[in-house]
Amino acid sequence: MSDPNCIFCKIAAKQIPSALLHEDNLVVAFKDIAPQVPVHVLIVPKVHVSGLDGLGEEHKDLVGHIALVGQKLARDLGVAESGYRMVVHCGPDAGQTVFHLHFHLLGGAPMGGKMV
Ligand code: 5GP
Ligand code: ZN
Repeated sequence: MSDPNCIFCKIAAKQIPSALLHEDNLVVAFKDIAPQVPVHVLIVPKVHVSGLDGLGEEHKDLVGHIALVGQKLARDLGVAESGYRMVVHCGPDAGQTVFHLHFHLLGGAPMGGKMV
């Protein structure tokens, strides 16, 4: 269920420190080490899944849970009204660099009308 060489598995297991904002039985959420906007949080399942392409039917509840954790964090961090994005990179063209599923929660500054 976890990969000994995976940095996000190590963060989820507290073997590597992070600025933790949320933890429950399914996920951890912590500040991105290189924030691209004032609020930049990573929501990460405790189970090792390589990315969106590694998801199966058994992960449907997990993904719904991640969306609701993102909603709660956005409210707690004060960006629910100003607006926010939840973004997932999948594969090389999308720029995925860590191959453990994670949702970026981005907010706290206008991000413009363009997606890329
Ligand atoms: P992606 O794979 O979606 O492109 O992004 C991976 C994200 O993980 C990047 O935004 C990067 O800054 C972040 N990241 C990589 N290593 C660490 C780490 O050790 N700690 C934290 N907090 N963030 C990390
Ligand atoms: Zn992992």
